[in-house]
Amino acid sequence: MYSHDVLVLGAGLAGMRAALEAARSGANVAMLSKVYPVRSHSNAAQGGINAALTDRGDDWHEHAYDTVKGSDFLGDQDAIEVMCREAGQELINLEHMGVIFNRDDEGRLGTRAFGGQRRARTFFVADITGQAILHVMYEQILKYNVRVYDEWYATTLITDHGRCGGVVAMEMRTGEVHAIRAKATILATGGLGRVFEPSTNALICTGDGMALAYRAGAPLMDMEMVQYHPTTLKGSGVLLSEGARGEGAYLINSRGERFMERYAPNMMELASRDVVSRAEITEINEGNDIDGCVLLDCRHLGRAKIMERLMYIHEVAMDLVGVDITKDPVPIRPGVHYQMGGIKTDVDGRCWDPAGNWKGVEGLFAAGETACVSVHGGNRLGANSLLDTVIFGRRSAEAAMDFAGANGHLEFSEDTWVGGEKASMQALLDNNGGGDLVAKLRLDMATAMDEGLGVYRTEEGMQQALNAVRGMKGRFKDVIVQDKGKAFNTNLIFALELGCMLDCAEAIAVGGIERKESRGAHSRLDYAARDDENWLKHILLYQGPGDQITKEYVPIVITQWQPEERKY
Ligand SMILES: Cc1cc2nc3c(=O)[nH]c(=O)nc-3n(C[C@H](O)[C@H](O)[C@H](O)COP(=O)(O)OP(=O)(O)OC[C@H]3O[C@@H](n4cnc5c(N)ncnc54)[C@H](O)[C@@H]3O)c2cc1C
Repeated sequence: MYSHDVLVLGAGLAGMRAALEAARSGANVAMLSKVYPVRSHSNAAQGGINAALTDRGDDWHEHAYDTVKGSDFLGDQDAIEVMCREAGQELINLEHMGVIFNRDDEGRLGTRAFGGQRRARTFFVADITGQAILHVMYEQILKYNVRVYDEWYATTLITDHGRCGGVVAMEMRTGEVHAIRAKATILATGGLGRVFEPSTNALICTGDGMALAYRAGAPLMDMEMVQYHPTTLKGSGVLLSEGARGEGAYLINSRGERFMERYAPNMMELASRDVVSRAEITEINEGNDIDGCVLLDCRHLGRAKIMERLMYIHEVAMDLVGVDITKDPVPIRPGVHYQMGGIKTDVDGRCWDPAGNWKGVEGLFAAGETACVSVHGGNRLGANSLLDTVIFGRRSAEAAMDFAGANGHLEFSEDTWVGGEKASMQALLDNNGGGDLVAKLRLDMATAMDEGLGVYRTEEGMQQALNAVRGMKGRFKDVIVQDKGKAFNTNLIFALELGCMLDCAEAIAVGGIERKESRGAHSRLDYAARDDENWLKHILLYQGPGDQITKEYVPIVITQWQPEERKY
């Protein structure tokens, strides 16, 4: 059997940062990914990464306050403090590894403004920041000879009595199923954006890790908090980075008005994302739209700046909607972008609570978008996610190495785990009757979620989405996988991913219905106000018993910033 001290699932920025930390310490570590590592969604990050550097007159407390306010006071302030305090050093680490960040006129690391922050503290590489960092990180992974299971698909966490001992995974090239044993397992499997359509996320962002942890008994937290990004391209939903507004681009409606004046007079286009998305939908609903969209206007930035700093979105707008952003405004609307919720962890990535206040799975860690620490609360600030991946990727590796040092391997029967997995895959392959094709079910689910759990929500709409998703969970049992072969059966993988997405979709809808207030991205027409008296708490969801979902609550951690009215 394959065996490691620390096994990292996922090779995006969180996974690579974790694996690198473990490898540097000489641990027996491996990384497993369903796609070649640099194809992970982190590669698509555009706008930048936040850090407050003191030699710029910035202060991590200010960054932390902006993050707390951005989260609409749902973020845990102890975790936010950790992230913002450690950001500067982590940024310098990245620079020393070789990330070629943009420089200012004096040759120092340059910054751009990002939404919801009172200072420009976003460090960037044009509008391809994720790609620049991920490739540098992968060079480090190669340098330290980390064992990588490329194009392996993890299907189940191996657990016994609330302790994780590794994973079952399929080698996609051969279709063989294996157990991989690990003393500590870190989930860094990214987000679930494709539970909704359209979405800015890559097709692989299907919430697998959240579903795996949830099925293994770990709680999911804040699942109702799904971020709609204000500037996604008409039709396809491809992202146009907040970096555009950071560089000074405007949002205008069909009458040519900079409508953000009416919604956020101080921060205008750089208010937090939930605020800007709501403003756009209001404009669209009031008829100030152009074919269901508003416009992002970059013309006044000038061609030189656009081609230096926004060349990627220039290319995307040209290719996908035929608009040259140096000459014309481009049609955009809000689209699903990021999941603030995820697998509950502490600040060291643990998916269980040593103090026993909530129960989870021992030996299991999570970092990056799949985790909910929670530093983003009800609304993530742009450029705080790349930061989250590297800070908590590193910290989870440190804690995982400690755990692996103090604990042996979990004993389990390889035959039982591998045999069980093969049997359930075979059951899917044996479906030949009148079931749905994977693509059809996936689109039905994603459309129902966008309709029921969009920018504005109601009890009725969310309940309809939940009923639809539950119906689809039933239909999933008969889903048709047309490819019956073993080698690279992507059809089977898509089916397995769909199973994960349905679990996540259900959790999002259940959380949404449960939270009877409006906070951050969760904006309800039937409970329009924030309710600090009753809802300064996180919702934890556990799968089971049976088809049931069990709800628990944990209070928000407040250290130094009391909740206040949120204005931009
Ligand atoms: C278009 C776009 C632009 C963005 N721009 C920014 C930005 O400028 N700044 C910012 O801070 N944030 C940005 N974000 C958000 C940020 O990029 C992501 O939240 C972050 O990169 C997630 O990193 P991660 O390591 O958690 O996951 P990912 O990078 O998504 O990696 C997930 C990994 O898990 C693996 N995996 C998943 N499931 C399985 C499985 N079942 N078996 C095996 N492997 C599996 C995948 O192969 C992959 O390697 C952007 C997001 C998008 C979509």
